[in-house]
Amino acid sequence: AKAAGRNTVRWFAPAMLEDNNDKLSLSAALRQAIEADELSLVYQPQVDLGSGEVVGVEALARWTSPSLGSVPPDRFIPVAEDGGMIAQLGEWVLRNACSAVVRMQEELGRPLRLAVNVSPRQLRGTAWIAEIAEAIAVTGLDPGQLEVEITEGILIEDSGDVVATLNALRELGVSVVVDDFGRGYSSLAYLTRFPIDKIKIDRSFISEIADIDSQAAIVDAIIVMAHALGMTVVAEGVETELQERYLRERGCDEVQGYHYSPGIPAGSVVMVARALGA
Ligand code: C2E
Ligand code: CA
Ligand code: CA
Ligand code: CA
Repeated sequence: AKAAGRNTVRWFAPAMLEDNNDKLSLSAALRQAIEADELSLVYQPQVDLGSGEVVGVEALARWTSPSLGSVPPDRFIPVAEDGGMIAQLGEWVLRNACSAVVRMQEELGRPLRLAVNVSPRQLRGTAWIAEIAEAIAVTGLDPGQLEVEITEGILIEDSGDVVATLNALRELGVSVVVDDFGRGYSSLAYLTRFPIDKIKIDRSFISEIADIDSQAAIVDAIIVMAHALGMTVVAEGVETELQERYLRERGCDEVQGYHYSPGIPAGSVVMVARALGA
């Protein structure tokens, strides 16, 4: 009976993480983490299917807490949003990623694009555009090499604000990418209403290309439609040779996924880029 009791306690522990108290403490821990330098960035290479070269990297936030261990971004980004820390976190990501990629470019001897993720709440204020401009100015990154990844949800929310923000990005020379395309609401109408440069096909479609004909058909349709609208297409979550071959046949422009590389520390990017391009 004692053993069962112990098991029961262990069993309920994960659920308790969703408890409000724990959310509060996670929020407090994250607040400290930002100050204490517990956050870091990894960079996942993006490969051009035509040339086979690494043409860009996506910056992905990591948090390793001495007490909580490794906390995934799907957990702590929402906490940062709710706790009012997303602006600070976003600025930190932007500055660090821009300067890291400038160093990578110097070492590599050619341009490399940087994609950063932006959550809806970050986009809302106008302060954010000024931050982007500042990060570009301070780090010297060519704005033409910077991509901002937004999710469909932002576009659905609509409002003239979003259009103004995205247009301001464009004026800076920064590209707009729709992340996780197809996962959410996917109203095709907004693709023509917003200034979008690139579409990232959601991982869920890519993982089912080989098994589910309808998913493959959707991938085909997204590629055709994006190209017809003058947009570039990148596929995320590419894990197999078969998926790559399919995407290349269908004219997908770029790929990203464990088949090439997971997110890696800044110091490893140039070496991996050279190995992948060889
Ligand atoms: P995302 O933007 O869709 O990022 C792609 C996620 O898929 C990453 O998870 C990446 O590690 C993972 N991934 C990459 N290749 C593969 C693959 O081949 N197979 C599979 N199964 N997964 C793959 P990660 O790093 O855990 O990030 C999760 C999410 O957290 C991101 O999804 C993004 O929405 C958010 N995020 C991460 N960093 C930031 C950030 O700096 N700011 C904001 N606002 N959000 C971030
Ligand atoms: Ca992304
Ligand atoms: Ca994505
Ligand atoms: Ca996402």
